[in-house]
Amino acid sequence: MSDLEDLYREIILDHYRSPRNRGELEVPPATRAEGFNPLCGDEIVVYLAVDDASRGDDAVVTEVRIGGQGCSISQSSASMMSAAIKGHSVAEIRELTRSFKAMMSIHEGELEGGDMFDADAEPGATLGDLEALRGVVKFPVRIKCATLSWNTLAQALDEALAG
Ligand code: ZN
Repeated sequence: MSDLEDLYREIILDHYRSPRNRGELEVPPATRAEGFNPLCGDEIVVYLAVDDASRGDDAVVTEVRIGGQGCSISQSSASMMSAAIKGHSVAEIRELTRSFKAMMSIHEGELEGGDMFDADAEPGATLGDLEALRGVVKFPVRIKCATLSWNTLAQALDEALAG
């Protein structure tokens, strides 16, 4: 067990025990999307408010709230996500989503003897605390736990802009 793995575990547990932006928003004006991961029983509800949907990808997410329940990976990922997206534009959030999903898939190829915690950063957005979920790729069945909130977020964004 490396120190970095310990640190990552601490970050994940901190978000699990003290989830950020937990709650609900009034719908409308906010939008709501729900995601479910049947492999693990995780549920995520994302509430989202944007400043001006007519601005498309330039619209800014002004408020986000997270509901649902499930394992520590799914809930901490949702908590980290909520903290990372608030106050950012839809375009920035889509970029962050790509970076996160790249981290979740690229490292699948490193499972055999590769250094899990290679410092090579993926191109794109800075992941911050989300880096802590890097170790999840060691357990492929848990990857869906980590990406559930992001897929649910994508639905909520699409709905927010369609509105
Ligand atoms: Zn799970």
